[in-house]
Amino acid sequence: MEWCDSMPKVELHAHLNGSIRDSTLLELARELGEKGVLVFSDFEHVILKSDRSLVEVFKLFDLIHMVTTDHTTITRITREVIEDFASENVVYLELRTTPKKNKSIGMTKRSYMEAVVEGLKSISSVDVAFMPHDVDARSSLNSLPVDNARNVTPRKRIYVRLLLSIDRRETTEDAMETVKLALELKDVGVVGIDLSGNPIVGEWTTFLPALQFAKENGLDITLHCGEVPNPKEIQAMLDFWPQRVGHACFFQGEDWENLKRLNIPVEICFTSNLRTNSISSIDVHHFADLYKANHPLVICTDDSGVFSTSVSKEYSLAASAFGLGKKEIFQLARDAIEFIFAEDEVKTILKQMFDSFVTNLA
Ligand code: 5GP
Repeated sequence: MEWCDSMPKVELHAHLNGSIRDSTLLELARELGEKGVLVFSDFEHVILKSDRSLVEVFKLFDLIHMVTTDHTTITRITREVIEDFASENVVYLELRTTPKKNKSIGMTKRSYMEAVVEGLKSISSVDVAFMPHDVDARSSLNSLPVDNARNVTPRKRIYVRLLLSIDRRETTEDAMETVKLALELKDVGVVGIDLSGNPIVGEWTTFLPALQFAKENGLDITLHCGEVPNPKEIQAMLDFWPQRVGHACFFQGEDWENLKRLNIPVEICFTSNLRTNSISSIDVHHFADLYKANHPLVICTDDSGVFSTSVSKEYSLAASAFGLGKKEIFQLARDAIEFIFAEDEVKTILKQMFDSFVTNLA
């Protein structure tokens, strides 16, 4: 675990509101409890429950959104989530979130995203590079996650890019609004679109026009795919040929063949899959087969707050469950650089950061 913590890492599947700290969530709920908006003890019980079905997870998200969805809180949790990933030596983070509207507090999808960007700008404890072409090789190498000879902990640097999520409850128009917003926000580090939300809700054809439009306009796409058994949707998603897919728990023979033929990288979220019973135990996880087949994979957290995990813990889990040594784990983490949505200059810098980590260990 210590090794996994110390090595640089890339996180490509993290939902903002799912990565919220427990302590922050409870603090916010307590405040609303005192104002009589909710019953704190009921809320606390749901938050602290450890095993939940996928359906229960989505009920929990509705509850989380009740306490987080105002501009100030969105700014705060963005800051905290990035600080938390940086503290475990994540050097590149693609953070995804669903832009939300709430007329009663004057929130639009745009103002929601402005609050997220405000969070990015407000971080002072680590160096955050989130604007396109904000690539500073020297300062990145100075901020490697290793102690230097004088045992002074270097200042950490994290590259952050944003993905805007379309929630499966949304209409075609809502989805299109999100994609147009993403295009307008490219200058502040938005690089792609995610499709997420309760997988038993909504139809693929509802989101397809917006996703097609996003693709045509140069945004990269990642889809939550195969979280429940839905062969027709899985096939349609693979036919769309997204840049990455998340989960892939309920793929069958032909789906695996198509995934491998198209070489689509898979975002693997062990703890999330296990806690939601999408996978019965880690030794039957599809990671093993894909890894053996040399298929592109990236290990991620999904919702580090909701599932009480971290990127380091997920790598540790892979190491112990599949007998991977330091060399294999490091290579897996480094290979993830190829699947990021940021520009090539960032990839080059990240590779230098990973390679310098090894050199400094020698
Ligand atoms: P947010 O987009 O509000 O920042 O993050 C929470 C949202 O991400 C949830 O409401 C849900 O739409 C989506 N989400 C988080 N975890 C999962 C997951 O495991 N599967 C799917 N399909 N969606 C998820």
